[in-house]
Amino acid sequence: MIELDGAQGEGGGQILRTALALSCCLGMPFHITRIRANRAKPGLRRQHLTAVRAAAAISGAAVSGAEVGSASLVFEPRRVTPGSYTFAVGTAGSATLVLQTVLPPLALANGPSHVILEGGTHNPHAPPFEFIDRAFLPLFNRMGPGVRADLQRYGFVPAGGGRIDVHITPAPSLSPLTVTTRGELRNAEALAIVANLPESIAERELAVLRKGLNWPDDAYRIGTVASDGPGNIVLLTIDSAQITEVICAFGQKGIRAEQVAKSALHPAREYLHSEAAVGVHLADQLLLPLALAGHGVFTTLEPTRHFYTNREVIRAFLDRNVGVRKIGENLVEVAVNPTAPTPRL
Ligand code: ATP
Repeated sequence: MIELDGAQGEGGGQILRTALALSCCLGMPFHITRIRANRAKPGLRRQHLTAVRAAAAISGAAVSGAEVGSASLVFEPRRVTPGSYTFAVGTAGSATLVLQTVLPPLALANGPSHVILEGGTHNPHAPPFEFIDRAFLPLFNRMGPGVRADLQRYGFVPAGGGRIDVHITPAPSLSPLTVTTRGELRNAEALAIVANLPESIAERELAVLRKGLNWPDDAYRIGTVASDGPGNIVLLTIDSAQITEVICAFGQKGIRAEQVAKSALHPAREYLHSEAAVGVHLADQLLLPLALAGHGVFTTLEPTRHFYTNREVIRAFLDRNVGVRKIGENLVEVAVNPTAPTPRL
């Protein structure tokens, strides 16, 4: 059984989610201790528990330690069964992170699936729905599967109540992916969304973004959406010939709208001024499918500790060499290959 230390590197929930996804895909059981040891409230929270239960539901796994607050878990998957599933976090915990857990195994299953996810769809420190839809899925689909996600209702922290509908047509295996250049800018959009909050918040955010980004006038939009509670997010979609990136910042009580806009502006400028194809979050999330495919190359900005932690978890399951090579100012190339070249006969 694979032994994992949940306190390694970043010491957050990603270690668990990556392990669950790989365990289901590869049929390899694991034991993890010190789950989320570096977080303020360590152990399993509702979102992680939902991810564990979701992974167990699709793989018929035997699980022990699946309780809120648990610091260790044993997960022994059987066979992944495609089908119709509903996974509800039950709080505003991130539904997209639950999707991140079950998507790889269902995308490699022996039949199509329909998954409904309920909870938060726009959570700080998690991929917002638009990131999944516009940035991640188009690349994932290039690797073979056909995945379509629809946002049926927005869910913000703390009220939650969001809903995402996902249709998955699997592929027998994932094909390698290469994204080393992003190509010319085709379209750019700055969208400021408010739910149950005054539109003036979105207007103030867009005013800052207009000054900071040199995009055409019609690139700036306000979205007023229905949701169970209040919410605000700024989403910058950068659509280049080879890849679409989505960069965001969340409105929070006590943080001025101008500051929220600046929090999205800085990483967007950093990305646009670099030659990187893939931004930091997408780099994190591409690692697992690329490792499953066996091969892949992309350029990105200086990777985060999150990225390196993910790399370690992947190595516990798969013999992959994930090379990170600096090729320019704030520009690295990530290359995934099997650890040992296949010997020629
Ligand atoms: P926790 O222990 O609370 O579950 P964690 O350590 O797993 O947290 P983070 O490191 O914050 O959480 O990241 C969770 C996931 O969400 C990662 O896959 C990360 O790439 C992704 N993510 C975070 N912020 C964004 C964002 N703005 N856009 C896209 N993806 C994001």
